[in-house]
Amino acid sequence: MKKHNFSAGPSILSEYTIRNAAAAVENFAGTGLSILEVSHRGKEFVAVCEEARALVKELLDVPAGYEVVFLGGGASLQFCMVPYNLLKKKAAYLDTGTWASNAIKEAKLFGEVDVVASSKEANYSFIPKDYVIPEDADYFHFTSNNTIFGTEMRYDPDVKARLVSDMSSDIFSRPVDVSKYDIIYAGAQKNLAPAGVTLAIVREDALGQVERPIPTMLNYSTHIKKESMFNTPPVFPIFAALQTLQWYKEQGGVAAMEKKNIEKASVLYDEIDRNRLFKGTAAVEDRSIMNVCFVMNDEYKELEAEFSAFATAAGMVGIKGHRSVGGFRASIYNAMPKSSVEALVAAMKEFEKQH
Ligand SMILES: *Cc1c(COP(=O)(O)O)cnc(C)c1O
Repeated sequence: MKKHNFSAGPSILSEYTIRNAAAAVENFAGTGLSILEVSHRGKEFVAVCEEARALVKELLDVPAGYEVVFLGGGASLQFCMVPYNLLKKKAAYLDTGTWASNAIKEAKLFGEVDVVASSKEANYSFIPKDYVIPEDADYFHFTSNNTIFGTEMRYDPDVKARLVSDMSSDIFSRPVDVSKYDIIYAGAQKNLAPAGVTLAIVREDALGQVERPIPTMLNYSTHIKKESMFNTPPVFPIFAALQTLQWYKEQGGVAAMEKKNIEKASVLYDEIDRNRLFKGTAAVEDRSIMNVCFVMNDEYKELEAEFSAFATAAGMVGIKGHRSVGGFRASIYNAMPKSSVEALVAAMKEFEKQH
């Protein structure tokens, strides 16, 4: 039976990505070699890396003055690279979840951190709205989609400070006004590629402002200058990322992805709101269209394990909620077909009938 992959990350990739990646593991670009064994400096792979960077710029309409780089270390390394490269004295952070608070922890190693607002007391079930960013903040950092708690900021905030965003779990899910940002970063394993590569979009004039010496590998400028080839980049994940980017383009780009994502999310949220067994955990106005978190209604709490087994038997994979929220989380990233969301909804309806 075909599985419906609702995993939070690593997560579902498009069939196009999987098929082309599998073929390239056998024979990459007619070289007679596997993508797993070619030199990153060979002309075939250099072309892959260039096309991937160009497609990121095309899909997100990245203006002049920005560079796109592929880095190692995951999104978690960006929690340290951002302040290393940008924090002079003080930075402002919005605390909307586990990943945001991990980013805050790292920034504190480099200077003063003003946490402008936090929804921690409410187990991060909403996005704080009324906060003030101090005039003297070197930058403002926020997490656009809170993968664990299922809340999302589906807009580009207007702020005076430099703007930095962790878009790991919703990049390419909607058009973004890149010109408002100084750094956008995203680990690949949610909406782009297998784990192992991190995408960063960097405004070049944001760099070179801090006085501290920056280790070579942690300096964005190193990777920009060498076009992501300073050292050996994650060759296979970058190849897979290119396939996903090509697929996005073929699908009509990020505006088309957003339309489909909203449709898929509505189908699932409508069922959560309708079905007497379930309820959503995130504030309605902040609901994520990437990670849909829900629990059993209080009077049906004891049915949780049973629904879990029922959904598994119906081919659902990865819907167990994160331990900090409990219940269920259906991650419905770009590559998730609407038919899989409909299969989950059908399972929820059927389970309700049986109880
Ligand atoms: C998954 C995730 C991370 C962590 O990514 P790693 O690549 O494992 O370091 C950070 N931020 C967000 C929003 C995530 O979803």
